[in-house]
Amino acid sequence: MTTSPTSPINVKHLIGGDWRPASDGATFETHDPHDGTLLGTIARGTADDGAEAITVARRTFDEGGWSQMSPKERAKILHQVADAVDAHRDELAMLETRDGGKTITQSLHAEIPRVAHNLRFFADYVSMAANEAYPDGDLLSYVLYPPAGVVSAISPWNAPLMLATWKIAPALAFGNTVVLKPAPQTPLTANRFAEIALEAGLPPGVLNVVHGFGGEAVAGPLTSDPRVDRITFTGSSATGVKILQAAAANHTPVSAEMGGKSANIVFDDADLDVAVPMSLRAIFGGNGQVCLSGTRLLVQNSIREKFLERFTEEARKLVVGDPKEASSFMGPLIEQRHLEKVHGYVELAQEEGGKVITGGERLTGDAYANGFYYPPTIITGLDNTSRTAREEIFGPVETVIGFDTEEEALRITNDSPYGLAGILFTENLNRAHRLAARWKAGTVWINTFFERDLRLPFGGEGISGLGREGGQYSREFFTEPRAVTIRL
Ligand code: NAD
Repeated sequence: MTTSPTSPINVKHLIGGDWRPASDGATFETHDPHDGTLLGTIARGTADDGAEAITVARRTFDEGGWSQMSPKERAKILHQVADAVDAHRDELAMLETRDGGKTITQSLHAEIPRVAHNLRFFADYVSMAANEAYPDGDLLSYVLYPPAGVVSAISPWNAPLMLATWKIAPALAFGNTVVLKPAPQTPLTANRFAEIALEAGLPPGVLNVVHGFGGEAVAGPLTSDPRVDRITFTGSSATGVKILQAAAANHTPVSAEMGGKSANIVFDDADLDVAVPMSLRAIFGGNGQVCLSGTRLLVQNSIREKFLERFTEEARKLVVGDPKEASSFMGPLIEQRHLEKVHGYVELAQEEGGKVITGGERLTGDAYANGFYYPPTIITGLDNTSRTAREEIFGPVETVIGFDTEEEALRITNDSPYGLAGILFTENLNRAHRLAARWKAGTVWINTFFERDLRLPFGGEGISGLGREGGQYSREFFTEPRAVTIRL
């Protein structure tokens, strides 16, 4: 049984094992996007709070209790934390669903299990990873991977704890200390996770969590303080630029996972029993608030009509409703401002000459009365030069574009400032491999979507990303690889 918070939670910063209010006492609120219920009152962090968390993370790192601990010992503690996440799965899932509007099915069966998997994967990776040694005559060279130091982790609201632990888990496993700043829209699971981690044996000061906003506020020092050794950021490309600028002053390495405008190509030889449901999931799953979404649906003209008819019919059947209900496929969008942005793009699409063939208006009526509900929306009649097809909408809005040849599909696909992911449906595997090799994207899925093996590099090209994380790629980022050569 899932449980739900019954009264608003008072969320403070976690700094060095202490729960602290903002230095000036300020707070902000987080509400349930389904019905507006007040869920929590959150410490609104100041720049001083950010700097204090860095001081504690720095001191904890330099004292060596965590950073010098053997990887096996660290792994043992991270496994304990993962076990505790499993034990609190129902509670964390409901918290995630209420704070961000994600369906309970997604929270319970995908995201919170992935939180535990992130922790276990990196705990094990550190001791299992192969290392390099190069004997050369009387010289022996090898590589050490000491932790980088203090890591700032800045995460978005669309997959709150899954993405936060995608940063925390490798950072901690490799021996760093962390200051996490979750998105202000969804602070609750990070706060609860930090409590659970402390109870499960994570030493104080190793993971610090501060809440609030970017820029001049709490996140300022996280990106501009010279005592920070790494910044791992997931969020929009516009914020990414600001973070890169702030980090450049101190030469602080940044790993940035940013926005997307991925193509989903359906060829006329695709198995439509796979392509239709996968394509629906690729754009409407997570309410379209997924960086990897297949937001440009490229359909070969020879099957365009047939495919669209089926795709639209199925899209209309998707259940949009209270995310706490197991029957809901989509919940509310994150907030009013975001709903206005999404709808603004639908209006823009029409101004650009597009035709809305389903959806396109905010959902109203009793079931949606106080929530930010938007239906699956499909737009045709635009080409890849339109702003609708070029800019990230981050909502359940699909832009359908026709094509005739493989070359044309590839040209349209790669004609984007983004380069995060790509999805392809075809039974011609030669063609699939040909396209994957020339696709401007960090990840390409063929006849599937959203599968993630954490050993693979994850990241994007163009304005979608800088650097890769996952397996050995995370090791390179969260450590300071050192070459050692000895004359024997
Ligand atoms: P956002 O950029 O508005 O915020 C992300 C985080 O950055 C938040 O914690 C925010 O408070 C913080 N922030 C904002 N300004 C800052 C500043 N100047 N300095 C430091 N921190 C600052 O993004 P969002 O709206 O929370 O998330 C949606 C975006 O994230 C979309 O563009 C989506 O594509 C992207 N995203 C990318 C991936 C990926 O893996 N590539 C995954 C999920 C989401």
